[in-house]
Amino acid sequence: MPGELARPYRSLSQKARVVSEAWGAENLYCANCSSDSLAQLAANTRAVDFRCPECDSLFQLKCQSKPLGRQIADAGFDAMREAISQVGPTNLFALHYSPQDWLVRDLIIVPHFAFSMSCIRKRNPLRPQARRHGHVLCTILLSSFPSDAKIPIVTDGTPTNPKLVREQYARLRPLANVKHDARGWTLDVLNAVRRLGKEEFTLAEIYGFAGELARLHPQNEHIEPKIRQQLQNLRDLGFVRFLGRGNYRIW
Ligand SMILES: [Zn+2]
Repeated sequence: MPGELARPYRSLSQKARVVSEAWGAENLYCANCSSDSLAQLAANTRAVDFRCPECDSLFQLKCQSKPLGRQIADAGFDAMREAISQVGPTNLFALHYSPQDWLVRDLIIVPHFAFSMSCIRKRNPLRPQARRHGHVLCTILLSSFPSDAKIPIVTDGTPTNPKLVREQYARLRPLANVKHDARGWTLDVLNAVRRLGKEEFTLAEIYGFAGELARLHPQNEHIEPKIRQQLQNLRDLGFVRFLGRGNYRIW
């Protein structure tokens, strides 16, 4: 990344933002269409950093110097909530860089249709002495997305072929037809299916996640029927196949 751009800035987060966005303007490409570049938008556009000049898809880029783990800090909670519930959120690029040499270590894209409100967590308001005190930020819970939705673009410094990135993105596109308030359940059950790490699985194995799913969706009392309903959704969306007698296979 062009680390020399960091020099005029004092705060680490500002350095990282300026350098990563300049890198993104040169190197990021659209996963939704064949565009090889993205247009950088003016700073402070709410929850959006880039737009595809061909298909108008929106993207935000978040970076951190730690490996991509359970979560990544995001901008304003209200902007994000608005994006998820109204305009449809932007695709997320999550980037891990090494701060010593400004090298891109890992980069993933999370498609906008994989977002639901259960993927973001409100943080405490900024302290009174902070420049933007009272402003409420949020955290994106990377661990809440199924592995399918965290599409690798760069892994340990090695780029993935863009063709594969676009194929994986296209595979998830049916999720765009699920309303954002229902999508949380669908994705949480898909996450459970993936975590089993098997080609074939049983209903009983998915019921094993009932306690965890109940904690994620405390307003829902009928967890097992809900799980069965979501497995039907996943079948209709082309993620799993029903083999009969409570047996399933991943497509
Ligand atoms: Zn595009």
